[in-house]
Amino acid sequence: MINKLPYKYNSLEPYIDAKTMKIHYTKHHQSYIKKFNTALKNYKNLQKKSPEELIKNLSKIPKKIRMSIRNNGGGHVNHSFFWTLLKKNIKPKNEILKEINKEFGNFEKFKKEFTNKSLTLFGSGWTWLVMSNKKLEITTTSGHDNPLSKGKIPILVLDLWEHAYYLKYQNKKADYIKAFFHIINWNKVNENFVDALKK
Ligand code: MN
Repeated sequence: MINKLPYKYNSLEPYIDAKTMKIHYTKHHQSYIKKFNTALKNYKNLQKKSPEELIKNLSKIPKKIRMSIRNNGGGHVNHSFFWTLLKKNIKPKNEILKEINKEFGNFEKFKKEFTNKSLTLFGSGWTWLVMSNKKLEITTTSGHDNPLSKGKIPILVLDLWEHAYYLKYQNKKADYIKAFFHIINWNKVNENFVDALKK
C-alpha cells in the first residue's frame, strides 16, 4: 500500500494533466482514506488487517460499517493500486505479453476488448485485467468494487470515474482510454502477473 505518489503530478503529461493528478490524488483519494479510517475507528481488530484483506472478505465485516468499507476501503485500495500502474513509454513485454497474445490472440485484440468494455461500462467504475482461475480476463466493476471480493487477482486497472479525466477530456471518454495505453507501466503489470502465478 503506497501513501505517497512515486512520481510528480506532471509525469504523465500530456496524457493525464498535472491538475487532474493533483486533485485526484490529494482530494479524491485522500477523502476515501479519511472515511475508511473513520469507519474503522471503533474496530481495533479490523484495523490490524490490510485494506486488501478487508475487501477480500466483505461478508465478515460488521453490517454497520460494511457498505463504508466496500466503498471507501475499495476507493483506497483501487486508487493505491492504480497509481503504481502509471508510467510513460513502457512497452509490454516478457511473460505478460506472451500470455496476452495467448489469451486474446494478439495485443491489438486485447486493447480492443479492454477499450470496448471500458466504453460500455455504465456510470462510475473501473476496468480490470485480472487472473481468474489462472487465466487472464478483462472485467469491469461499478463504484469502487474490487475483483478481490470475488476471489480474482488484479493485474491492471483503469479508473473510469469522471473525476479521473473530466478536466482534460470532458465527455471524450474514448480519448482518455486511448491515452491510458500510453502510460501503462507494463513492467509493474508483468510483476503483478508473475506474482499472481505463484498464488
Ligand atoms: Mn479515481
